[in-house]
Amino acid sequence: MSIQVFGLPVSRGVAIGRAVLVASSRVDVAHYYIDDSRVPTEVDRLRQARDKVANELLTLKRELPSEAPAELPALLDVHLMLLHDDVLAEATKHWIEARHYNAEWALSAQLEVVARQFDEMDDDYLRERKADLEQVVERMLRALSKAGPLVPSTVGTTGDGAEPLVLVANDIAPADMLQFKGSVFSGFVTDVGGKTSHTAIVARSMDIPAVVGAREASRLIRQDDWVVIDGDAGVVVVDPSPIVLEEYRFRQRQSELERARLHRLRHTPSVTLDGEAVELLANIELPRDAQAALESGAVGIGLFRSEFLFMNRDGALPNEEEQFEAYRGVVETMHGLPVTIRTVDIGVDKPLDRLTIHELKHGQVLNPALGLRAIRWSLAEPAMFRQQLRAILRASAFGKVRLLLPMVAQLAEIRLAREALSRAKQQLSDAGIAFGEVELGAMIEIPAAVLILPSMLRYLDFVSIGTNDLIQYTLAIDRADEAVAPLYDPWHPAVLLLIARTIEIARQAGKHVSVCGEMAGDPAFTELLLAMGLRSFSMHPAQIASVKQRILRTEVNRLAAGLARTLQSEDPMQSWAAARESREPARDAGLEAP
Ligand code: PEP
Ligand code: MG
Repeated sequence: MSIQVFGLPVSRGVAIGRAVLVASSRVDVAHYYIDDSRVPTEVDRLRQARDKVANELLTLKRELPSEAPAELPALLDVHLMLLHDDVLAEATKHWIEARHYNAEWALSAQLEVVARQFDEMDDDYLRERKADLEQVVERMLRALSKAGPLVPSTVGTTGDGAEPLVLVANDIAPADMLQFKGSVFSGFVTDVGGKTSHTAIVARSMDIPAVVGAREASRLIRQDDWVVIDGDAGVVVVDPSPIVLEEYRFRQRQSELERARLHRLRHTPSVTLDGEAVELLANIELPRDAQAALESGAVGIGLFRSEFLFMNRDGALPNEEEQFEAYRGVVETMHGLPVTIRTVDIGVDKPLDRLTIHELKHGQVLNPALGLRAIRWSLAEPAMFRQQLRAILRASAFGKVRLLLPMVAQLAEIRLAREALSRAKQQLSDAGIAFGEVELGAMIEIPAAVLILPSMLRYLDFVSIGTNDLIQYTLAIDRADEAVAPLYDPWHPAVLLLIARTIEIARQAGKHVSVCGEMAGDPAFTELLLAMGLRSFSMHPAQIASVKQRILRTEVNRLAAGLARTLQSEDPMQSWAAARESREPARDAGLEAP
């Protein structure tokens, strides 16, 4: 029977595919298709992993110290029994042979199926065996990873004729999301997460339909169910009826046509009807995203979230050389267009690795959103910080680079960062290494920074408004928590006043100001931000065309009166919509994408 699950729409479009349920802890398991000829080898890898784990368990049992609790040998017997049970061994083989999944993927798919059967059992004892099963599978996954994957990449593309797949998980860490760029999945849904959580942001950057905060999704959806993900409405339809499916297929085709139509705007200059030029920049997470930025028509990178280079490395940080190569790669790809590199913004929902995630989730870190994150962490790790600054400075010898400091709240943070920058330059000069000039900027994402902006601007060349965090810190709403998602309101009068004030002060001081939070890529805010005086927007490459379309249809001169009223209104969203309606229809004939 068809069911619907509601969540938050975070990445547009419609995805239709079979569900692949993945436990959060296993999201980074390799997922790729194998071809016919590889099936026997993959089945053999699975058998070898099973034999290896069996040996481990037998050795463990043999070497148990005499004082070990009496239950331990019995527990190891249970694990051995599960290891050889057909529900694990034979059924996993089936995923490899019938679906052509790689061994790791087959194993975790089967675990999800059996774990659910355990959950539904009435018998407490049997229900508890689920944990044992998980431990056995974990051991097998480790054995498989030691043997090394057969296919070098962790993810592959959907093979010819293979059914489309969508990923369903309780949660996906931002670092794990990166593994899915260019992967087999055409959409995803998670139980938790807010609209501007980093998992949602990475989904938008991948431009695949996604719904987060769909609380019950991973419980209600079963492995292999047909699922529709409506990333525009935030709805997930499980096991849709043929008529519903047909409707969604129609919408899917429509949205592909719309994308193709918008794509044709990519080389059109971004200028309003009354001739105001507007700079459209791209946000990127990884160096390889720069190409998509260029192809989208972006005139530079407004935000390179460098922290993604620091993830998935078991705590080992990228050294100066590796960072330099990554930054230089982006600078060269952009062929002289400006590249804004933000220094590492680690913490809260962007932890370095699993260990930190565990610490954050289990309370060892008292209040991560207010803790040692972003610029605070960089200043607390001077050697690491200087290494990053040197790498950025060196890359600036190859093109135009701007350096952006995240989460600045104190003047002292800017002063210390400038001192670190001077020292980094000195070290490079002493070593005879070339570097260029970089402009220094700060993210404005804490209300305190807005309130002391005139002082801050004395030490900065530019600012970039991080609306995602600005909303979080102004309204005291966790941006990643779906329980308070309805209160995370970009239209809140306080948020709009802070943004308007930042733009005004920066412009008066003659400093470049941009918005790089998610509001910049949402066409619902384009006119409002233009009315506030913003002329530089930074967003995911996939959003550039729709924002540009709005800009091409706007006459900025006609927005001023509506702005003043909206900023004083108790309900800015309603007030801005009313102002918009009262304006004559824009003279936009002929401005549709060709
Ligand atoms: C922001 O806070 O708006 C921003 C752009 O930074 P991030 O989303 O990476 O915190
Ligand atoms: Mg931020």
